Amino acid sequence: MSKSKMQRIELGTFYDVDLYCPFCGQRVVSNGADGSEPGWTPCPHTVFTASDEGFDYRSNEFNAFFGLSDDDDVDVEELGFDHIDAMTDAFEAVDGVKFAQYVPAPGGLGGYVGFAPKYDE
Ligand SMILES: [Zn+2]
Repeated sequence: MSKSKMQRIELGTFYDVDLYCPFCGQRVVSNGADGSEPGWTPCPHTVFTASDEGFDYRSNEFNAFFGLSDDDDVDVEELGFDHIDAMTDAFEAVDGVKFAQYVPAPGGLGGYVGFAPKYDE
């Protein structure tokens, strides 16, 4: 079991679909189309949820990888990355998967969610 960069899945047309964790099936990204509150609801496999504007959630594993603590505000450029997309690309996990949702121009915003499987402790 060696860690490597997360496998990327990009959504550029269906950027606003709900996303479900591939490992437990929980809906983690909701667009609110069914009347629920739009937003992110991390499951135990969620490593991060973020947009280009910042992080909404970071797991302990993610924080540890970058030497961050829970309540740190992340300055992506200070950590040596051009943007959050590149920073989340750099995270390494065993069999991790990252979904990138790119809202086309003029919105132009990206949404990022990472998952990694783990066995129950
Ligand atoms: Zn899950």
